[in-house]
Amino acid sequence: MDEQPKSKITKSEEGWKKKLSSEQYSVLRQCGTEPAFTGNLLYNKKKGIYMCAACGNKLFSSNKKYDSGTGWPSFWNTEEKAVRIKPDRSHGMVRDEVICAKCGGHLGHMFDDGPKPTGKRFCVNSAALDFEEEGKKKEKSKIKLYFVL
Ligand SMILES: [Zn+2]
Repeated sequence: MDEQPKSKITKSEEGWKKKLSSEQYSVLRQCGTEPAFTGNLLYNKKKGIYMCAACGNKLFSSNKKYDSGTGWPSFWNTEEKAVRIKPDRSHGMVRDEVICAKCGGHLGHMFDDGPKPTGKRFCVNSAALDFEEEGKKKEKSKIKLYFVL
């Protein structure tokens, strides 16, 4: 077993189902993939931080986002220790699965065809992400509400 960070969030599948939209649940908890070119954050060019839609973990900064042409939001690096990489042998391929280090949610996959300096492409589903624009309060208060209630 992997060493889990102390701050790891665990929740029952029922709990996640209640907290997440069906789209978010299918990506984050069932390793689903949204159709290419459909995600709401694909063309987002605002400055800010991308967070895990399930737990709010800060995953990617807008200054590491780039247009990979693949149809999914792509980043060439992550925030420090924000994600874990896990070998994924589903669908007859060996790929590197990118999961949230905090809640274990599925985010997307990592490939080796990214730009310099890392050469990595973190290919992430919009549905797995929440975006907070720099200098602005987060508009979507779903996560906050969840903990307040
Ligand atoms: Zn998470």
